[in-house]
Amino acid sequence: MQVKQILNRLQKFKSFVYEHVRFVATAETLIIEAAIRPRVHSRPCCSKCTRPGPGYDTLPPRRFEFVPLWGLPVFFVYAPRRVECPRCGVRVERLPWAEGKQHLTTTYAWFLARWAKRLSWQEVAEAFHTSWDHVFRSVEMAVTWGRAHMDLTGIRSIGVDEIQWQRGHQYLTLVYQIDASCKRLLWIGEKRTVRTLLRFFRGFGRERSQALQFICSDMWRPDLKVIAKKANRAIHVLDRFHIVTHLNKAIDEVRAQEARTLKAKGYEPVLTKTRWLLLKRPENLSAKQDVRLAELLRYNLRSVRSYLLKEDFQFFWAYTSPYWAGQFLDTWCRRTLRSQLAPLKKVARMLRGHRALLLNWFRAKGQLSSGSVEGLNTKAKLTIRKAFGFRTYHAMEIALYHTLGALPEPEVTHRFC
Ligand SMILES: [Zn+2]
Repeated sequence: MQVKQILNRLQKFKSFVYEHVRFVATAETLIIEAAIRPRVHSRPCCSKCTRPGPGYDTLPPRRFEFVPLWGLPVFFVYAPRRVECPRCGVRVERLPWAEGKQHLTTTYAWFLARWAKRLSWQEVAEAFHTSWDHVFRSVEMAVTWGRAHMDLTGIRSIGVDEIQWQRGHQYLTLVYQIDASCKRLLWIGEKRTVRTLLRFFRGFGRERSQALQFICSDMWRPDLKVIAKKANRAIHVLDRFHIVTHLNKAIDEVRAQEARTLKAKGYEPVLTKTRWLLLKRPENLSAKQDVRLAELLRYNLRSVRSYLLKEDFQFFWAYTSPYWAGQFLDTWCRRTLRSQLAPLKKVARMLRGHRALLLNWFRAKGQLSSGSVEGLNTKAKLTIRKAFGFRTYHAMEIALYHTLGALPEPEVTHRFC
């Protein structure tokens, strides 16, 4: 079997034929070149309006990189014709294997983009002896296509999340779909201002916003206002993940401050390296950490008291009746506000201020999976970390949509990976 036969089987183009396939030895490596020519009597198509027209002239041959075969780079070689289009003037013909001025064939770009879901862009570039830039362009192409073809019907639940990126306080707003049938990233907004979420709803459309049944978000006031206005039929839930994050932040503050005070007073450093003991869920602690936590709990420290308050709050989520959950919440807030722990008191005041939205959790129970936002948040953070080389917002946005967007791909006769 010849390479030409394989190509004819897997990657045939109407109106074009593979003329011959040959080896070319370059200084660094051996490459495979497949020469393409137009089918006899076929007319070139205008690259702008895609309609066929009379030929004008032929340009010098160009090379288009295709999917490598057995580690050897494969190139299509073709001399593009120019069309004298009655509508658009003289134009280069449209080529079915590559877009515009692209050096990569569309098939190869999809191939690289698919690998870029499993490996970092740098790793893909190294594995296939290509450049980071080619991988980036390929992913960008896949994301642009996928975003243009994504199906937005039937979205019932969404989650609003924010993520810090870069140093300093640069935040992104992320909107996820969190239905049981489909969990994916729907939208990314640069920054986190009052207008950001409004932009999402504007793009999402009135009809779809009105069809939303559940929305999860944090307690950020501008977001709450926008959600109340744009999706007033949905049950708005303050999600568990964000509340736990607030509690963790508060006990971390108490611990850090106390550690400093103890050190200043010359006490033995009981609190150093205890950060994770206090922040992790007890069932996730290792045996050694478990013993250390037990030791730590013997001290009547502020950190320990705040830890116990946080652990106590976990019972809130176990209620089924909103009434009793509300009673629990009130008691918890009262107790916390009587404590001397300022960071926790702040959280308690915040929770009390959003009592109704918090209790919505019980109205949505069973219909909303609580871990969705957290799971997507973790994945998004991982993508941002893996994408360490991204200097620009645009590249990061592309990476997030690519890994978390569950974007569709075009139907093809053969997938090369
Ligand atoms: Zn035209």
